[in-house]
Amino acid sequence: CKMGSEEMAEEKFLVSVRLRPINAKEIEKNDPADWDCVDGTSVVFKPYLPERSLYPSSYTFDRVFGCACDTRQVYDEGAKEVALSVLHGINASIFAYGQTSSGKTYTMCGITAHTVDDIYDYIRRHGDREYVLKFSAIEIYNEAVRDLLIADSLPLRLLDDPERGTVVDKLTEETLRDQWHLNDLLAICAAQRQVGETSLNEMSSRSHQILRLTVQSTAREFTSKDSSSTLLASVNFVDLAGSERAASQVSSASNRIKEGCHINRSLLTLGTVIRKLSKGRSGHIPFRDSKLTRILQPYLGGNARTAIICTMSPARSHIEQSRNTLLFASCAK
Ligand code: ADP
Ligand code: MG
Repeated sequence: CKMGSEEMAEEKFLVSVRLRPINAKEIEKNDPADWDCVDGTSVVFKPYLPERSLYPSSYTFDRVFGCACDTRQVYDEGAKEVALSVLHGINASIFAYGQTSSGKTYTMCGITAHTVDDIYDYIRRHGDREYVLKFSAIEIYNEAVRDLLIADSLPLRLLDDPERGTVVDKLTEETLRDQWHLNDLLAICAAQRQVGETSLNEMSSRSHQILRLTVQSTAREFTSKDSSSTLLASVNFVDLAGSERAASQVSSASNRIKEGCHINRSLLTLGTVIRKLSKGRSGHIPFRDSKLTRILQPYLGGNARTAIICTMSPARSHIEQSRNTLLFASCAK
């Protein structure tokens, strides 16, 4: 049945890996680049591995972007199709997953900007419909949800709305006048994210940021009263906490106790949810175990489209975290 197979295909996550260039600090420490991109779909570990190594030397995904790829290419091949489905009334989310300093924020900022350009370009070329765009932004830090559009936001509650599902109570939702308005709001979010904590790095390694753009469109002239005369959907840009905050599946009990206070509940639950969804949605999926997964439930699985971009450093010193990132990406395939 054609319809059925198309629906199946749409539930798959689009999973890609991006290698960032080796940086000045790594060069200074003679930290070699051990990972490479091959054929645009594989990440390969270059040093020799013994035949009976516990680890594979090559991992394959929908797309792999080497350190020479720019964000335009990452967007075009790893996010665009998913992000722009919002124009057709389909919910979408784009995730950046990876250890701190692997390039999540760098990648998400570029992807958000390209998506916004394409959405406004599409709207200009589709005058037969009237579009209303709305924007909201939150940060989840220590399981507390804050509004990124207002200064000194108090923690916001999550409510269960019978029609819309989980909603963030009292969250600011700005109706956009134009693209410049949106760019101003994006700048406010970036600034807001920096004032909350003394150490920016510490903050951004522990917090999740969700930027949400909602697109509603209505046909200007009704030829019939069909349901497609109004379309409503949101796209979420999710810059996750550093993946070193997710407890490794293999870490020992004593390590877990030691690391206990650093483990990020939302990140851990997201991993479980994504693993279960990608294996076919049977059994209980623990969306309600964390704030992040509760908020994103309508944008994960079901009729929604999801792209996951895993960022990693090619440097030898990060091998353990890079392997964890590749394991996460493999589980999401
Ligand atoms: P994260 O958000 O994962 O902690 P960042 O996005 O802040 O990491 O990236 C860390 C540093 O590396 C930043 O200075 C960023 O500009 C740089 N960087 C990341 N990815 C790339 C890339 N693909 N090309 C060039 N510079 C990059
Ligand atoms: Mg960051």
